[in-house]
Amino acid sequence: MKKTKIIATIGPASKKEDILEKMILSGMDIARINMAHATHDFCKDIVKKINKINEKLDTNVSIMLDLKGPDITVGKFSKGKAFFHQGDKIRLYNQKMVGDNTKLSVSYEHFVEEVKIGSIIHLNDGLVELEVLDKDYDNLLCEVKKEGEVFDNKSVNVLNTKLNIPFLSEKDKEDIRLACKLNVDFLALSFVSSYEDVIRINDILIEQDNDHIAIIPKIENEQSFEDIDDILKISDGIMIARGDLGAEIPMERIPGIQKIIINKCHTAGKVSIVATEMMSTMENASRPTRAEVSDVANAVIEGVDVVMLSGETTIGKYPIDTLRAMSKIVESAEQDIDYYDFLDKTMRTEKQDITGSIAYSVVDCSSRLKCAFIVTPTITGHTAKKISRFHPKAIIIALSPDIDTVKELNMYYGIYPVLIDELKSFDEIMIRSKEIAKKLLKEEKGKIIITGGYPFSEVKHTNFMKIEEL
Ligand code: PEP
Repeated sequence: MKKTKIIATIGPASKKEDILEKMILSGMDIARINMAHATHDFCKDIVKKINKINEKLDTNVSIMLDLKGPDITVGKFSKGKAFFHQGDKIRLYNQKMVGDNTKLSVSYEHFVEEVKIGSIIHLNDGLVELEVLDKDYDNLLCEVKKEGEVFDNKSVNVLNTKLNIPFLSEKDKEDIRLACKLNVDFLALSFVSSYEDVIRINDILIEQDNDHIAIIPKIENEQSFEDIDDILKISDGIMIARGDLGAEIPMERIPGIQKIIINKCHTAGKVSIVATEMMSTMENASRPTRAEVSDVANAVIEGVDVVMLSGETTIGKYPIDTLRAMSKIVESAEQDIDYYDFLDKTMRTEKQDITGSIAYSVVDCSSRLKCAFIVTPTITGHTAKKISRFHPKAIIIALSPDIDTVKELNMYYGIYPVLIDELKSFDEIMIRSKEIAKKLLKEEKGKIIITGGYPFSEVKHTNFMKIEEL
């Protein structure tokens, strides 16, 4: 069983029910729908299919909606794409028009007004680089500095520049309402710039009476990275969105930023997600490169909770093979994690209270006794999340009667949530924990630790641990 979770983005290559089912069986824990491309009908269809497969397979795969946010994109090209050669002069227009290899339109109406002469513009996640030479009232004259191909609706980023594009559009608000209606589990927020942006989303969720959807801001520009400490305080996790991040800031800074964010999330007990180009060779090839294998494995060894696939599963030729390969890589890398180092590091930043001390003792004991499982009955997921922060070698089985808790815990490192009828007496929970662990335990014998808070009605309070030999 792998402990690192995998998000796979759903698109044309993966929208069919039989493919989705195989993706779940190959390691997909969370299905992501990117609202920069998806329609509401597409979302409804995918949510329906995932719910149906969950019932069939008795799985709890969760769903993430990723808001479009204030991203800027190119318009359509006459051939669906255009190649820009180094040294070419091209014009970028505000108004809608069909582009070719001499001109293109940009989705933000004040783009020409706000971008200065001398600015560097990136198209298609930085594949193509332009320098602004001159401007007219309705267009920017640019020189192609780095050549490449750009497809319809691909990203536009202006390096080191904050444009005054509003954070939330009407479309985003409609998408949030849809997310609530479909009861998805996670909302990823594209292009947040500050703590205030996250508060605005939170307010909309409150207006919609939704206290279930977890909020995952995406760090993809300098402003959000500068405000990361405050953003983290009001978020459930952070996505390191390396695609746009590497187009907004120099790409060579990504590894350092990734490490800092993973550490900050770990200290705060929040989920970290590394996204984009993890296995992009597999969009067209049946195996990843050694460099991609190392990228995924190093994220796991650094302590990431979740790794994400985008193009590989939306338009790639091998969505199922990619998931299989990624699951193998993370499972192998988990053998190389320094679990004692995590235990020490976590204890230094853990509260010196009863819950923190029990979580530490549980993980320490599970290592010494080589326990296969730590079982925790939980209503809110509090104890399970606390233990996950320690990154134990043992799998954490979280038993909860609350489906929203089960779906949320799915995102956390090492947690296998199981939906149970209800938390009855202490004795019954002991019996049920042993039964479930026994079913999952491949060897006949083994030790498990059962931990939680009793009485169950007192939430967010861990006060017992019990070691059982099966
Ligand atoms: C990214 O930019 O890395 C990302 C995950 O966002 P999107 O897929 O919306 O570009």
